[in-house]
Amino acid sequence: MANRAYNFNPGPAALPLEVLERAQQKFVEFENSGMSLMEMSHRGAIYEKVHFETEALLRELMSIPEGYKVLFVQGGASTQFAMVPMNLLPPGKTASFVATGSWATKAIQEAKLFGETAIAASSEADAYKRIPAIGELEYPSDAAYLHITSNETIEGTQWAEYPDTGIVPLVADLSSDILCRPIDVSKFALIYAGAQKNLGPSGVTIVIVREDLIAKPSITVATMLRYDTHAKNDSLYNTPPSFAIYMVGEVLKWVKENGGAAGMEARNREKAELLYAAIDGSNGFYNGFADKGSRSIMNVTFTLGNKDLEGAFVKESETLGFSGLKGHRSVGGLRASIYNAVPLESVQALVAFMADFQRRNG
Ligand code: PMP
Repeated sequence: MANRAYNFNPGPAALPLEVLERAQQKFVEFENSGMSLMEMSHRGAIYEKVHFETEALLRELMSIPEGYKVLFVQGGASTQFAMVPMNLLPPGKTASFVATGSWATKAIQEAKLFGETAIAASSEADAYKRIPAIGELEYPSDAAYLHITSNETIEGTQWAEYPDTGIVPLVADLSSDILCRPIDVSKFALIYAGAQKNLGPSGVTIVIVREDLIAKPSITVATMLRYDTHAKNDSLYNTPPSFAIYMVGEVLKWVKENGGAAGMEARNREKAELLYAAIDGSNGFYNGFADKGSRSIMNVTFTLGNKDLEGAFVKESETLGFSGLKGHRSVGGLRASIYNAVPLESVQALVAFMADFQRRNG
């Protein structure tokens, strides 16, 4: 078996070993077809089965209600930063945003290119260490939508619970925490997420959208950037990223075998608690970045009391087989991304390394 790293990469990120091995078995020849899945038509029966099974599994695991479309699109969540306002922000209306960190800021900047935006709440003054309280949110009752970033991958903050926005459509970027816990999809008008953290490899983006919101096509939007194009054609309007979608399907099977969304939450909380306990119990040798009430169970961000040691921490960790622990270049420090597929053993190894590093340098 391959020598597997303790993989804490922020995305693309760790995939379940079982999934990689199963895909490997079918890599050259897919189900007696004489060819790889990558070599066959996306209009053929074999691929179509994969495509629709993947969608059905996502619907099942996220309990997606009737009245929602599940779309597989390309261009990453970054394209969704534009597609959402292009499709859902008409002239004369305002899109409100909760400014929680680096990714929310990118979403806001992009939306400004297409229409009126407003800030419903911001934690910028607190260096984005916290998610604003639901009571702090202020947005017009006739807003086109309220946009939130469910998990700020760079700062390591996450919404503990979501706002009830009533008639205002709630749009959420779940790129770094989709399927990390059960959620009530009916609270949302639109959810989007790149696959490359919790769901599979990069190359496919998931959009879950209420059908009534996209029923009226906007004639000024490019065909490929209209949700209704993909909705009407079951995400087969053009050639989809077929292999990436297949991999998402395999990851979803693994999620199902491991207890579904609730199983993922239990697994993720155990890992996150272990890591935060190591940070909090270090007497200031390690310091958590995010406020306790806003801590992410996906991206654990921390600094060293003595910043000069951070370089050595990363370097030593890499020689011991750890990968991806350096914080994002924009905020520095350290970050352990512990998405669904990261095994508890990796976190146990990290906690042991952290204690040892502290013993030698504290
Ligand atoms: N939103 C969030 C929360 C992210 O973490 C990322 C990627 N790290 C993005 C958006 C951008 O995603 P992509 O690279 O797929 O465009």
